[in-house]
Amino acid sequence: MSETRHHVVVVGAGFGGLELTRALAGAPVRITMVDKRNHHLFQPLLYQVATTSLATSEVAWPIRHLLSKRKDVTTLLGTVTGVDRAGKRVLLEDGSAIAYDTLVLATGARHAYFGHDEWEPFAPGLKTLEDATAIRRRILLAFEQAERETDPAMRQALLTLVIVGGGPTGVELAGTIIELAHDTLRGEFRNIDTRQARVVLVEAGDRILPNFAQELSAYAKKALERLGVTGWNSAVLSRSSMPRALSSATRICRRAPSFGPRASPPRRRGSGWALPPTARAGCWSSPI
Ligand SMILES: Cc1cc2nc3c(=O)[nH]c(=O)nc-3n(C[C@H](O)[C@H](O)[C@H](O)COP(=O)(O)OP(=O)(O)OC[C@H]3O[C@@H](n4cnc5c(N)ncnc54)[C@H](O)[C@@H]3O)c2cc1C
Repeated sequence: MSETRHHVVVVGAGFGGLELTRALAGAPVRITMVDKRNHHLFQPLLYQVATTSLATSEVAWPIRHLLSKRKDVTTLLGTVTGVDRAGKRVLLEDGSAIAYDTLVLATGARHAYFGHDEWEPFAPGLKTLEDATAIRRRILLAFEQAERETDPAMRQALLTLVIVGGGPTGVELAGTIIELAHDTLRGEFRNIDTRQARVVLVEAGDRILPNFAQELSAYAKKALERLGVTGWNSAVLSRSSMPRALSSATRICRRAPSFGPRASPPRRRGSGWALPPTARAGCWSSPI
């Protein structure tokens, strides 16, 4: 094969990068796929890794293997740090560069913390395998610590899990964590009843799943309530720091594990991140 073929460099082997590469099969081009990880990740099932239902190997596949039959594609492991547009080169972290004729940047999205990046230590996002396993570790360790805790208040704190953001991921996580506590782990501990675990879903908007139809939001809310998830609409959360907001919801939440930023910032209303008065600080389920 001649090296004079048009060279397409694709950065990112996520859904976007892989789909483009698939669509270019048979085109008179050669493709270089660059990704900072050696695996493609199926992000929609990350919450199942975070809640122990799936192993990491069930949601991640080696990019090199996925593209092994494509002789027109070269897969490279590397982190792109910049683009030299004039020189038509992609710059890599290790100081090397890759020349391109056409460049495709498909590097995905970052999660948002309402402009409060200082929340991150309290609540890791859920975008990578590492995030999922970190959350899984926090959840399981909370139960392990509760089993050995003698102070009832502290024990309840350890058994209170707070999720921030009532979008699809927050809703999925809340439902699966409560099932983990109430069903999967039931009977495996001697000093705690895992059914005493509480899952609190905090949402700054006036309903969960705000991008879905109103009926679906209402259905999801009812389904979560049936499972035992407690909800809290919070204007405070969007205005002040995570720990302060959580402690105003419930004192013990301060010591409880919490998870997850929203995938994107909340809708801005007026001069701040405020909610309509009717939605403020109302519990939509039993008091926390
Ligand atoms: C928890 C969760 C649940 C979701 N559930 C659903 C769902 O149910 N339905 C749905 O349709 N969508 C869902 N999504 C969204 C969906 O996963 C994303 O829209 C999709 O993954 C975006 O694809 P992408 O190719 O743009 O980016 P990504 O899949 O994020 O891929 C980006 C790739 O770029 C690589 N990369 C990033 N920066 C660099 C760099 N500097 N150098 C080299 N490589 C780099 C990354 O390693 C990654 O492999 C969910 C997302 C999450 C996080």
